[in-house]
Order: sequence, then structure tokens, then C-alpha cells
Amino acid sequence: MISPAPWAVLWDMDGTLVDTAELHFDAWSRLCAGLGSPFTRADFKATFGRRNPEIFHYLFPGGISESESARLGGEKELMYRAAAREKGVELLPGAWNLMNALGKAGAGQAIGSSAPRENLELILELTNIGDLLGALVGMEDTSRGKPDPEVFLKGASRLGVDPSRCVVLEDAVAGIEAATAAGMRSIAVTFVAHHSEEALRAAGASMVVPNLSVLDASVVCRLVSPNDESGPGS
Ligand SMILES: [Mg+2]
Repeated sequence: MISPAPWAVLWDMDGTLVDTAELHFDAWSRLCAGLGSPFTRADFKATFGRRNPEIFHYLFPGGISESESARLGGEKELMYRAAAREKGVELLPGAWNLMNALGKAGAGQAIGSSAPRENLELILELTNIGDLLGALVGMEDTSRGKPDPEVFLKGASRLGVDPSRCVVLEDAVAGIEAATAAGMRSIAVTFVAHHSEEALRAAGASMVVPNLSVLDASVVCRLVSPNDESGPGS
């Protein structure tokens, strides 16, 4: 019997597997207050899901040196991780069951995130999902943030799976755009509600679901099955 071609699920972290938005907002607010310029909800909305270098470029359009951006970014992430440890982080509804079911169904799984690796590793430690993952791609592993497809192409490559056999799970428009640009099908999750269903569909999402509990592994698998001629979005 010929074994089926490998397939994989590439997970966004923040807003898809966990909701750490408020921890990030607090850390950015504290950092910017220390620099004498307020960090507003509008700033947060405009920069959510981006890598730190792009966020600093947005906050300081007049220019900020690479070393200064790296230093301040490090400070912000220290504040974020301390708060995450103190307050705890839990997986969003359905995440644990779906990840386990996907593993049993033979899917490789990786994280493709804009976050620094230390943040990702902390979340894995706090949520116990490390054993389910075959690769971790974070801020340091990419030179261009989402919507560039680099983060997901790297995840696929590290798992040894062709991009056409990968499904991306995402909560953000930029992430769905990255998946589309990578030639991957994607499922958008609106649980944390930062982006509208219409915008996520317009970015190329094959499916939009209210939370991960409504998905089962076979529905995800069907998106990359070559026999799928009637799947959502095809
Ligand atoms: Mg996200």
C-alpha cells in the first residue's frame, strides 16, 4: 500500500491558539509610557500580529536604529513574558482536542508566528503543546513578517511538506494573506474577533469558523486532499 503524501497544519500562535493580546497591550503601553509617548488602542489595532521591527517602524516613522529597536523590543518582550508567567496562559477553546486529533490523523504541525522564539517557547511550556509540534518558526527565523509568505513556507520546509499540502490556521488578515501567498489553504478563526469574517474571506480564507471546537481533523484534512472536489472554497 502506498502511504498517503504527508500533510501539515501550520498554526499561528497569538489569537489562534492562545489569546495574549492584553498581555501584549500592557507591555507596549508600559514601554511607550517610559519613552514619553502613549501607546493607544488604535496603535495596537494597527500593529497587531506584526513583528517587532515593523511595529517600531510604525511607532517611530522618523526612524529608529536597528540596535535601538532590538533593545526596546527585548525590553517589551521581557515585560510580556513576566506577565504571562505571572497570570498564566491557556489554550483557546477546542485547541487542545484539535491538535491531538490532527496528530492522530497524521498531520505534521508547526507554529508560524511573528513572535520572538522565547515567547513561543514560553507558551509551549505553559500550555504543554510542545510534543505535538514538529517545528517552530518565529520572528528571528524570518526577514519579512506576514503578509509575506516566508514564515509559512519555512514551516512547511522544516516539516518536509509541500506548501500545497499545508493548511494554515489564523486569526488575522495579514496571516491569511501570507497563507494565500504561500499557495496554502487556510482556515480563519474569529474567536478573539479582531478581524471580520468578510475581511478574512477576502484575504483568501477557505473557511471561517467561530472557534476551534467546531472543527474536526477530517474537515481540515479535506482541504488538502487531492480527492477533494467539493470542499469549502474549492
Ligand atoms: Mg494571530
